[in-house]
Amino acid sequence: MALALGNLSVSDIQKGLTSKEFSASELAQASLDAIDAVDGKVHAFLQVTPEMAMEKAKEIDAMVSAGEELPPLAGVPTAFKDNMNQLGTKTTCSSKMLANYESAYTATCVSKMIDAGALPMGKLNMDEFAFGSSTETSYFGPTKNPWDLERVPGGSSGGSAAAVAAGLTTLTLGSDTGGSIRQPASFCGVVGMKPTYGVVSRYGVVAFGSSLDQVGPFGKSIEDVAIALNALSGHDPLDCTSQPVSTDFTANLDQGVEGLKIGVVPEFMEAEGLQPEVRKAIDGAIKNLEDMGAQMVEIDLPNAHAAMSAYYVIGPCEAFSNLARFDSVRYGNRVDGCSDLGEQYEKSRADGFGMEAKRRIMLGSYLLSSGVYDKYYYPAQQVRTLITEDYTKAYEKVSAIVMPTSPRTAFKFGEINDPTSMYLSDMFTISLNIAGNGGMSMPIGLGEDSKLPVGIQIVGPQFKDENILRVASALEKCYQIDKLAPIGREYVDERRQA
Ligand code: GLN
Repeated sequence: MALALGNLSVSDIQKGLTSKEFSASELAQASLDAIDAVDGKVHAFLQVTPEMAMEKAKEIDAMVSAGEELPPLAGVPTAFKDNMNQLGTKTTCSSKMLANYESAYTATCVSKMIDAGALPMGKLNMDEFAFGSSTETSYFGPTKNPWDLERVPGGSSGGSAAAVAAGLTTLTLGSDTGGSIRQPASFCGVVGMKPTYGVVSRYGVVAFGSSLDQVGPFGKSIEDVAIALNALSGHDPLDCTSQPVSTDFTANLDQGVEGLKIGVVPEFMEAEGLQPEVRKAIDGAIKNLEDMGAQMVEIDLPNAHAAMSAYYVIGPCEAFSNLARFDSVRYGNRVDGCSDLGEQYEKSRADGFGMEAKRRIMLGSYLLSSGVYDKYYYPAQQVRTLITEDYTKAYEKVSAIVMPTSPRTAFKFGEINDPTSMYLSDMFTISLNIAGNGGMSMPIGLGEDSKLPVGIQIVGPQFKDENILRVASALEKCYQIDKLAPIGREYVDERRQA
């Protein structure tokens, strides 16, 4: 019987390696075989790195043979969003601009995972430069949702969510500037966590909005994500925003929620555009929390409605400035045969960036121009302070807050084609990036109408991400859900019979 990753957890992998039930090389091969068999349909990967995976696997197998203690992610097949530099791979950000860009060094988040024993399986598809909510803006073509190949996996970390849902790898990393970890996690029925801004180093991750960007893990269980976060977190001298976090994120997974005060935001539950099946699933989850002894408290976030507007000022301004480096001279796509440097910049950038990237760059350049700056950028920063204060006040009353991740389940390709409606996908996730707090999406079953995964978002105070994991872990026990999408299940069945 050939090994399949299927629903194997990080701790199953540790146990299997130490008891010699399987080797790290077999795990790497199982992941490569699954990618080979399934990814032609899903397109989560932009690049697969079998040599690197096998080399790391041999290192782990040697440790097993020598009877050494294994690191926490030993033998865990893992893949990285393609905005994360990794020596020996391209880092394209799914853009024509960087289609041939070879990483010059390795991002801290990537090296921390590999140092903790993870097997690097490759690089994952995303929306171009992380602008989007569906992976439809990838220059290399979209990723498909493993639950329904006619639907989007969400975005921008769509490849990261789909790879886990399809059983191609056990863990992946994504980045989240306005919801890009949580929304695809919700659409693909897996767990995805954006920790508090500063918990994970962004060194080596191509910047989108530097005051908003945060890296985080995807996995099939709360424990897997907590173990990954232990490996990822901590101060990095190479990222001045990273903090000396030494929390053990697995420490209070079993504490339950008895007596814990958890917030609900009535305004969000009544939001226009919230699908009834999503609302129903969230209500069910709230009931489960209450049944386990949590005390639900109504929370008012009076300025949260302005988060979207603030984000679409701050985000494009920061993106405009971060993307200026792709000038065809220092980095990026170059159109040759131009008569002067100005023409080369213009033609290379016009050719290298896709529509959504251009829209953000133009928006940012307009918003930062003189006269306009005072009208939008300053108020957006003021709104940011107000929203942050709203959350601070809320956390005087509660330890965590629950809300929908996305107003709806996964939509069909092309179904949402105007930018404003697409931006609304992130109506519940964006305020967390504005305030800097951590948030997670975890699956709570399938919507009763669409039969597609629904996610709940659990958010917590700054640098109290362990509160989120505690609530999530309690809630996880109420659901017996298969987080492996049907396409992954079929593959596992075939493989077991082979
Ligand atoms: N969907 C949002 C956007 O398009 C968020 C993207 C992200 O978090 N990277 O900006």
